Amino acid sequence: NQGIGSWTARRARKSPHALAVLHRDRRFSYLDLRERSLRLAARLRAAGLQRGEAVAYLGPNHPAYLETLFAAGLLGAVFVPLNTRLAAAEVEYCLADSGARILIHTAQYARIAEEAGSTQEDLRSIAVDEEYERTLAQGPAEPIDEPVAQSEPCMIMYTSGTTGRPKGAVLSHGNLTWNSLNVVVDTDFRHDEVTLVSAPLFHTAALNMTCLPTLLKGGTVILEETFDEARTLELISHQGVTTLFGVPTMYQRLADAPGFDETDLSGVRNLMCGGAPVPEPLLRRYLDRGLSFVQGYGMTEASPGTLLLDADHALSKAGTAGVPHFFTDVRLTRPDGSVAGPGEPGEIEVEGPNVMLGYWGRPVETRRALNDGWLHSGDLAATDEDGYVRIVDRIKDLIISGGENVSPAQVESVLYQHPGVAECAVIGVPDERWGEVGRAVVVVREPAVEGAEFAAELLAFAAERLAKYKVPKSVVFTEALPRTGAGKVIKSALREANADGSP
Ligand code: AMP
Ligand code: MG
Repeated sequence: NQGIGSWTARRARKSPHALAVLHRDRRFSYLDLRERSLRLAARLRAAGLQRGEAVAYLGPNHPAYLETLFAAGLLGAVFVPLNTRLAAAEVEYCLADSGARILIHTAQYARIAEEAGSTQEDLRSIAVDEEYERTLAQGPAEPIDEPVAQSEPCMIMYTSGTTGRPKGAVLSHGNLTWNSLNVVVDTDFRHDEVTLVSAPLFHTAALNMTCLPTLLKGGTVILEETFDEARTLELISHQGVTTLFGVPTMYQRLADAPGFDETDLSGVRNLMCGGAPVPEPLLRRYLDRGLSFVQGYGMTEASPGTLLLDADHALSKAGTAGVPHFFTDVRLTRPDGSVAGPGEPGEIEVEGPNVMLGYWGRPVETRRALNDGWLHSGDLAATDEDGYVRIVDRIKDLIISGGENVSPAQVESVLYQHPGVAECAVIGVPDERWGEVGRAVVVVREPAVEGAEFAAELLAFAAERLAKYKVPKSVVFTEALPRTGAGKVIKSALREANADGSP
């Protein structure tokens, strides 16, 4: 087995008793993790899971998350982590699209798992309950020697595209291995790393940029279900955390927390931040404490690491996303596909062993995304004289709210279902807490209904049909949406008009 499923056995060979996972008061060594993954794999196989079939996971960060990933890898099955904030209908969509045979879920998600699973004929559910724990804690851990190649699918990660419907990016064992190697080469990850993972593991960056590289090196992963400032400071003080990962919002909350100034941060070596650049004032608060950020740019389809700004250049190259990872290449292209000249903005395209195999069951979208093997990012960027890449704009208009991607098209399609809406467009507006929040710009059918009451009704309508973080925070009314000659809404004009975030 050349895949990720072999990692626990490979680690157990070198450092069987090193602490692999800490969750609340439970501690698992690499040997434990190996045996638990083998027992789970045996259970999944007994439940009928075949090579190449998908096993989905729905729940917060928990050892079962990693056990499912490794067990699937042992069998040559495909792991499908699901976003816990999705509405039941969205979970149902991902289950049907991936053809998942088994859904593993924690107790909090039993209801949504049942609701979403009820329409899937061949789906079996496994709860992470006492029986799960019993099965994994004892009994034979027979080796499984299913041959799995690096080129085979390991994971399907759903990403919110601009087209609204989530697409499943298929990442191979090789893709994920090379991404981990990129991280290990380009940062100071060590064998005694203690990595705090409090961002949800369904996010590619939490799972693939922090968890997997830590486990590859033989370090310890601390799994937390949510981010909490006080708890983070406590773990730094009492568990010797050396690496943190998060989005800028999280680091801002940590720096503002009572006790931040008093906590000894000298053992922390890596602050990793992704999704958006760290604002300079925030960067300085950590620099003042002798710490600096490693900042990354990436996308689900690239497993995800693409560009990295190392700690040494955090200040001198602030505002850029750095240079490509060691084994990865990036180029900027013009709309006609030719390569942009020095300093000229262009679309980021990515090539390397970390770039996905394609979108699950979508040959047309795959061809569009992977032109000549180069992955189109949809992001506009420019390079400085040293080759550092500055992200200029998101071509695809995604809203990023508190680190979550929101597809305006999906939200718009819901709002259009309301009979009072003639036209609408959803854009991101600046927000102090979340970075960006959604705003619906609406043209009503009957001018008489415009107003606060109708705005509240629309938001309630959206809240019934969408995950909470996708629901716009405000509605503004207008007589007509700005459109191009071809009839496409000019989102940049709407963003400009709403740039200060006030209604
Ligand atoms: P996802 O597919 O959910 O991983 O989101 C990927 C998208 O997030 C990218 O295409 C970018 O638009 C955006 N993104 C990721 N990292 C950064 C960053 N460091 N700066 C600006 N935008 C980013
Ligand atoms: Mg994406």
